[in-house]
Amino acid sequence: MEKKNLDWGNLSFAYMPTDYRFVAHYKNGAWDEGGLTTDSMCTMSECAGVIQYAQTCFEGLKAYTTKDGRIVAFRPDLNAERLMNSADRLMIPQVSKEMFLRAVDEVVKANAAWVPPYGSGATLYIRPCLFGCGPVIGVAPAPEYEFRIFCTPVGPYFKGGIKPIRLLLSQYDRAAPHGTGDIKAGLNYAMSLYPGHVAKDRGYSENMYLDAATRTNVEETGGANFLFITKDGVVVTPKSDTILPSITRRSLVYIAEHYLGLKVEERVVPFSEIKDFAECALCGTAAVISPVFAVDYEGGSIEFPSGSEKMGPVTQKLRETIVGIQEGTVEAPEGWIRTIC
Ligand SMILES: *Cc1c(COP(=O)(O)O)cnc(C)c1O
Repeated sequence: MEKKNLDWGNLSFAYMPTDYRFVAHYKNGAWDEGGLTTDSMCTMSECAGVIQYAQTCFEGLKAYTTKDGRIVAFRPDLNAERLMNSADRLMIPQVSKEMFLRAVDEVVKANAAWVPPYGSGATLYIRPCLFGCGPVIGVAPAPEYEFRIFCTPVGPYFKGGIKPIRLLLSQYDRAAPHGTGDIKAGLNYAMSLYPGHVAKDRGYSENMYLDAATRTNVEETGGANFLFITKDGVVVTPKSDTILPSITRRSLVYIAEHYLGLKVEERVVPFSEIKDFAECALCGTAAVISPVFAVDYEGGSIEFPSGSEKMGPVTQKLRETIVGIQEGTVEAPEGWIRTIC
């Protein structure tokens, strides 16, 4: 198979339509088989549930070319499970794990020419989405749904090396108690755009959100979970019902314990405690793991000892290990890597 003629080393994190996408429809109480199409446009009612009442959820995962030339996906079964949970909460009919994995396989295989080669630093970003496309005007679940997976090649999230970032403690809340913070709903992102703009306008990379109920405990950013490292080398990650359960974070916790022999604490993390940590990082599929160098808040600033030039040593080891597992140079735990072709 001939690869597309792209400048793999200089791709940005942007949408570039590829040749094929998988589309399935839910109608009259059942999903059809679904299949590949070259049509990148969605056509639907002006009164569609997604347009009127934001009835939509999504996933994000990547395919990698391994050192030995296979194309693999990283833990797509967990994305399938998370999409099922998101669908339940939004009254969207579930997509079975079997259909989800078949769709991922078909889309990646059909777009193999778009999967960046090993060593380029680029990957194939896969975006499953699930939304109400049938008409609703009274507030209710839509009568029809579309499940779609497209993919787009993306460059390394951090061009020219990984630079530690500076965060702003947000004055806004991301997720209400008993709300939708723990599902991957489009609506969680719509309402984060304004706080995100405020932070970027002031020169910050991202917001740090606290829990909405007490505004005392660290939750996450708009799209990534936190990992902290104590001065004794313990990995600490916030535990809360209103955090999105990041697959990257769950994988890094496993790696910390089973590959690096570190102690991990998943618990409530008061904001007042973070000044004592040695390292701070964000984790998610897009950037894998990004070091944080400072968090500014009204009237002060916390700077981590790992500094503004490079990531801390534990963050570095976590990153090398997970990237090695994804690219096939470090042995993966059972079931983490799905070979597609
Ligand atoms: C997708 C997402 C993450 C990261 O999850 P991964 O499964 O690691 O990609 C973290 N926080 C939020 C709010 C998200 O939507």
